Amino acid sequence: MTGTTNARSCSAHRMHQKKSEYFAAIGQPISVRSGDPLFESAMRKIHDLHFVHHLTYVEIATLWLMPETSVGRTIRQTRTRMYRSDALRALAIRPPERPAGLGATIDATATRRRLQALFAEGFDTTWQALALGLDRANMHRLMTAEHVTWKTADKVKALYDSARMPSDGRFGNRTRIIARRNGYAPRACWDDDSINDASAIPQYTGQCGTENGYKLHARENDKHYKPEGIDNLGRPLTAQWVIGCAPCRAARMDARNARLDIRAGS
Ligand SMILES: [Zn+2]
Repeated sequence: MTGTTNARSCSAHRMHQKKSEYFAAIGQPISVRSGDPLFESAMRKIHDLHFVHHLTYVEIATLWLMPETSVGRTIRQTRTRMYRSDALRALAIRPPERPAGLGATIDATATRRRLQALFAEGFDTTWQALALGLDRANMHRLMTAEHVTWKTADKVKALYDSARMPSDGRFGNRTRIIARRNGYAPRACWDDDSINDASAIPQYTGQCGTENGYKLHARENDKHYKPEGIDNLGRPLTAQWVIGCAPCRAARMDARNARLDIRAGS
């Protein structure tokens, strides 16, 4: 068994070698390496799609017909070669057109979440307005907006990517409490793709939205604000702080109800 597998992979290897030699001989090597102009422009193209056109890893992977891991390695510049065909396909990608004109707007989901995330880490609206060069009076509207202009979305993204927490442990204490009460999730709960995905939920535990997520919250005694002020049986809650985020609590209730149903034999 092993013998035949080896024989097969050996012949496949020889075929691959032949093919490489042939393409190298006609001046079109199968793969291109760092230093090769084609390799360098493909790397630059993928880099720009992410950092200039703000496409996510998943979006680039779809356009490039490559796995997300390859996109990640390309953007982090940790690769030194790629197939010539992949490089050529990268160069042929056309970034989706942005609506023209200064007033053109886009969905504000990611922008809202970014501002809320900064708020959740203690960067209050005064700080944000100053950093964005906006009027403080507009910040609340921006934080709850349905649509924003490209220009504003870009500015907010740049701030989100660059804001560093001061080392002072008490920084923004009050702001962070307000954020928890409003259900604002910090940056650690999002990645480039989920923050754009309207159906995604913030990931506090990595397993949020499941019963396991609830257990992880409980282990950390991670308390979240519950706006309704009633418990899962509809009784008024005296304490407004409960364990876990809302999707985790819902998942736990579902799982418990399912177990009760089984026991009741229904
Ligand atoms: Zn959760």
